Amino acid sequence: MTALRDILLRRIRATGPITVADYMGECLLHPQHGYYSTRDPLGAAGDFTTAPEISQMFGELLGLCLAQCWLEQGAPAPFVLAELGPGRGTLMADMLRATRKVPGFHAALRLHLIEASPALRARQAETLAAHAPQWHDHLADLPDLPLFLLANEFFDALPVRQFLRAGQGWRERMVGVEGEDLVFGLGPVAPLEMLDHRLADTAEGDLVELCPAAQPIMHELGARIARHGQGAALIVDYGDWRSLGDTLQALRAHRPDPPLAHPGEADLTAHVDFEALAEAAADAGAAHGAMVPQGVLLGLLGIAARAEALARDLTGDARQSHLAAFRRLTHADEMGTLFKALAIHPRGMAPPPGFDPWPEVS
Ligand code: SAH
Repeated sequence: MTALRDILLRRIRATGPITVADYMGECLLHPQHGYYSTRDPLGAAGDFTTAPEISQMFGELLGLCLAQCWLEQGAPAPFVLAELGPGRGTLMADMLRATRKVPGFHAALRLHLIEASPALRARQAETLAAHAPQWHDHLADLPDLPLFLLANEFFDALPVRQFLRAGQGWRERMVGVEGEDLVFGLGPVAPLEMLDHRLADTAEGDLVELCPAAQPIMHELGARIARHGQGAALIVDYGDWRSLGDTLQALRAHRPDPPLAHPGEADLTAHVDFEALAEAAADAGAAHGAMVPQGVLLGLLGIAARAEALARDLTGDARQSHLAAFRRLTHADEMGTLFKALAIHPRGMAPPPGFDPWPEVS
């Protein structure tokens, strides 16, 4: 029995079942036993891998996209270049290398990272030492300068609550205890105002998810971009405009694991609802582009030409793995369609390169 499992069993026996969000939050970020608190989970030896770990092209293209946006907005200086949940710092390192020749960009940027995990902060400090990053727990703690931000596979790591449709109300999915096991159960039926908008597109027994932590983050982001009239955010994650069904999943050593089986020892994620992210930023006064599949975005940003240029210098296995990485990032059967991107930008301005505008409400 793991230490965290023991803690959760005792807590639930003492005070009753906990929400899926509480469970996820403890598993990922418990100070002593949380999954992210205690390890670097990325890469072949870890539990999962991400787009920047698959190929340098991902960070290069997103970096140039954000830098182009900065230029088009009049190159504000100084500005905050920030990332939410930078993992090993690979995406940021690739972006910084690719933007070295963008006039004035490096001189103007102040690098700030929002990262909860001490283990990953240490890793980022190694990768990004040359750029003197500063770390924060929350987006709200960033200096009040124009903000250009990246987030890849950050929002999928935020805890979700799950609700099952029951008549005109909802039953929350809870984590309880049976004998020595953690088990899923359902709370009592209750009406829920925050899910009123889902009454029209769900049927009895459907499950919907809410990510309570995402809303304040997106609101803060949108408010900063609106207040300065400058800035942008690129958000990439797996999910859809509005999800339906149970998307909670655990990955351990690159294999699916039952979500309650290894608390604190498996990665836990849920699909991201991009509509909820976009609306929170819009409520705060920012605009957003239309959501775009990752494969389409990378195509529009020129990944084919970049892949070809890199392939020219490669032979044998290195060439094969480079071409496999290109396919993995872009192909519809791999990450190309499941992953989506959303851009937040100031009202009255064009969205960043690769994004179509979304009709603005005046
Ligand atoms: N963006 C990286 C890592 C993705 S994993 C990549 O693409 O490779 C998720 C990252 O978010 C990790 O760095 C994790 O420690 C961080 N994280 C998760 N929850 C967080 C929270 N609530 N606040 C800040 N960082 C968080």
